[in-house]
Amino acid sequence: MLAAYAARTDRNDPLAALEVGERPQPSPPPGWALLRVAAASLNHHDLWTLRGISSRPVKPPQILGCDAAGVVAGYGPDRPVDAPAEGTRVVAHSGIGCGACAACRDVEPLFCRDFGMFSEGPYQGTLAEYVPVPAGNLVPLPASVGFVEAACLPTAYLTAYRMLFVRAGVRPGDTVLVHGAAGGVATASILLARAAGVSVIATSRDEGKRAAAVELGAAAAVGTDRDAVKQVLGMTGGRGVDAVIDTVGEATWEFSLRAVRIDGTVVVAGATSGANPGAQLNRVFWRHTRVLGSTMGTRGELEKLVGLCGGGVLRPLVGVVVPLERVREGFERLAAGEGRGKVVVTMGQTYEQGPATAPG
Ligand SMILES: [Zn+2]
Repeated sequence: MLAAYAARTDRNDPLAALEVGERPQPSPPPGWALLRVAAASLNHHDLWTLRGISSRPVKPPQILGCDAAGVVAGYGPDRPVDAPAEGTRVVAHSGIGCGACAACRDVEPLFCRDFGMFSEGPYQGTLAEYVPVPAGNLVPLPASVGFVEAACLPTAYLTAYRMLFVRAGVRPGDTVLVHGAAGGVATASILLARAAGVSVIATSRDEGKRAAAVELGAAAAVGTDRDAVKQVLGMTGGRGVDAVIDTVGEATWEFSLRAVRIDGTVVVAGATSGANPGAQLNRVFWRHTRVLGSTMGTRGELEKLVGLCGGGVLRPLVGVVVPLERVREGFERLAAGEGRGKVVVTMGQTYEQGPATAPG
């Protein structure tokens, strides 16, 4: 089968490690399904894998990709009785627990100490014509949700959903600050917050990206300096925002602590600019600030996201759709940090719709 994979790793030039070519067709282990992939989307996670940086050692050749939507093609041995029938259109939840520990059995596989994702360690990635998926990870799609749209959901949109609604617990009428206005999780946060009646203030150093955030539905967009903090306080009657959605880290930490209201919440799901800011603990305790971590989301939360898409409440922003053969173009766009919306890769024949746009 055709697949996009890390043929080696290259810390400085990740795209030099990318190859598209034939890989052996996988066969699903017991309790797993084989998904015929219709669409997959790219994430920065894939660029990190190409650099050789992952939660587990990267052992090339490693097929890339965390997100996939497609059709159930079959099952390995021990198919669970409640698993979707062959031919069902599904999106795959991308988190995989060990299945045996207390977290996996009794609480939530997301909290498994051995939690992994497609394209990490022993798990094949989704940028291929077929990918093995644990049967429990399959989420059926309503007819109104296309594969291209669905392929955006499992990483960026699910991460944003959990940060906003589960960790920060934002409610209609709240105001959130979203850093790095053009990133995948930031874009998803703006669309999801807006759909829920939550007001968004976006931040970016780039004027064009600030304009794009407003076009997407942010109430306002500001820069990243001290003056911008004052602007945010001004926009919230001096009070500060109810929650901050941050995947940037060091570069935005002080901004977050200054812009969040007393007894407000800063949710962190990434640290692209560095992981060790000055903690400013005096500010944290004196202002009763909640600092919460978040990674991905649960299968149940993915189901809710799919429901939002199916009901027409959410329409993920797709920047470009490329066939698997031309995935390098998609990676170049992702690596350059230019363009808005998800990069979606389609397999075989082009399925269904073309690019979606921002919700009108
Ligand atoms: Zn486990």
